[in-house]
Amino acid sequence: MSNKREQLDELNIYWQENCKCGLRKTATQAVFGDGNAEAKVVFIGEAPGKNEDVLGRPFVGAAGKFLAEMLENIGMKREDIYITNIVKYRPPNNRDPEPEEKEECNEWLINELKIISPKLIVFLGRHSMTRFFPQEKISEIHGKLLIKNTPELGKQAFMPLYHPAAALYNGGMRETLIKDFNKIPKALEKI
Ligand code: URA
Repeated sequence: MSNKREQLDELNIYWQENCKCGLRKTATQAVFGDGNAEAKVVFIGEAPGKNEDVLGRPFVGAAGKFLAEMLENIGMKREDIYITNIVKYRPPNNRDPEPEEKEECNEWLINELKIISPKLIVFLGRHSMTRFFPQEKISEIHGKLLIKNTPELGKQAFMPLYHPAAALYNGGMRETLIKDFNKIPKALEKI
């Protein structure tokens, strides 16, 4: 059995060729998940934006910078975590991804998660949260440690957070996100 990094590389090569997502037509390139294949925490965002589309790396713009600051606050670095998106291609003008676009990228995401098998999955925003908690509202469950038995991943710990791009310029939401983010180390101890 090859190691996790090699398995992720193989997975990305396969899906880059075979993903049926309609966004391929307008995006510059697929934006693969990025970071430590052995990570204990995986962050899942929404979809690549303009900078990510050009550079082929997730969270490299303003939201990524904010995320790096919050990681530093809890003594972690980007190299310690793994970060990916629900949808691997940039939607035109950064519109919300459509349900069918999420569905078409779903197997790619689930297999990434299976390979890494993290202790904790952190949702950045409602788009990734609703993949696993379709009935919930992020305003009600942000910052909570949730344990759920899922058909794809078995028993798994999750924590929904507000999306850093949404919180960046909204004082109240920004404060809440920073507070919630600081709960990650305790949650990891608990799991
Ligand atoms: N926002 C996301 O959800 N993902 C990125 O990769 C960048 C910004």
